Amino acid sequence: MSPTGAARCLVFLAGLGFLVGLLDASAGDVDPLYRSCVEECEKSGRIGDLTFRHCYFSSDGFPSDGSWYMQEPLYIRWKQHNCKSDCRYHCMMHREDERKVLSLEPVKYHGKWPFIRVSVFQEPVSAILSALNLIMQFNGWLSFFLLVNYKLPMSQSKRSYYEYSGLWHIYGLLAMNAWFWSAIFHSRDIDLTEKLDYSAAVALLGFSLVLCILRTFSVRDEASRVMVAAPLLAFVTTHILYLNFYDFDYGLNMKVCVGMGVTQILLWAVWAGATRHPSRFKLWAVVLGGGLAMLLEIYDFPPYKGYVDAHALWHATTVPLTHLWWGFAKDDAEFRISSLLKKAK
Ligand SMILES: [Zn+2]
Repeated sequence: MSPTGAARCLVFLAGLGFLVGLLDASAGDVDPLYRSCVEECEKSGRIGDLTFRHCYFSSDGFPSDGSWYMQEPLYIRWKQHNCKSDCRYHCMMHREDERKVLSLEPVKYHGKWPFIRVSVFQEPVSAILSALNLIMQFNGWLSFFLLVNYKLPMSQSKRSYYEYSGLWHIYGLLAMNAWFWSAIFHSRDIDLTEKLDYSAAVALLGFSLVLCILRTFSVRDEASRVMVAAPLLAFVTTHILYLNFYDFDYGLNMKVCVGMGVTQILLWAVWAGATRHPSRFKLWAVVLGGGLAMLLEIYDFPPYKGYVDAHALWHATTVPLTHLWWGFAKDDAEFRISSLLKKAK
């Protein structure tokens, strides 16, 4: 996911599209024709001429195709999972074809638009864009790393004079982690990948709030940093544990994420103006771009040609925002160091 002032808050938005979808108990999967298609398919392993080998079990409930490992409970569960997902996918496509003939608009199934799969990838465009965001984050972080460690002056103990470099490094790691899981989640949506994607996004969003507060309030000494960061990190950790092990509550998660996201966007925007930071325009561009990108999540539209929906476009907008965001981090390092050295003279 994304991040830049706004963009970081975007990460959480990644989830929002789905949340909204999941909350409105998708029109597609309550359709009785779709339901009976899935039921029939899971029983018979076929829809029309299509057959699904994952749906074939012998009469004792074991997969009908041999070898010892195929009798393992895990293997059987995996097979059942694949059977269900193949049936759901093909029944959905089948229903959508019928609906198209009747000039009906596409509807969501189990919280998601009918995307055309490419090989095993469920949402190829969002998955590729997540991977692209991951590359952008790596690229941004690497150029920041090279700048503070090799180009800008260092203290005698070989430490950067820029007081926030450590925070930016952690931020970079969490951002890459979040986009990695986003790419996996958009490729294969199962319980586990969904939890990992949401958890990684919340972790990133929470940490970027810490970074935002420490930077905008110029918190530099270790003790004060701990005092600010500890309660926030404890809250974020608790929230992630709650989601994963107690109740995966989309509505609650949305509130938490919007709260943390909006707080940091406002802080950055106001601070950039109040301090007349030399890179304030970059920061504002990120905040504005992030805000506009949010509209894409609100005006959720069905996938164009079966591939590009609003969520995918939103992942596209975070690519340039990420570039701007790391640009701001680098400018800030140069700005801080040059004003420190000026003071020292
Ligand atoms: Zn996403």
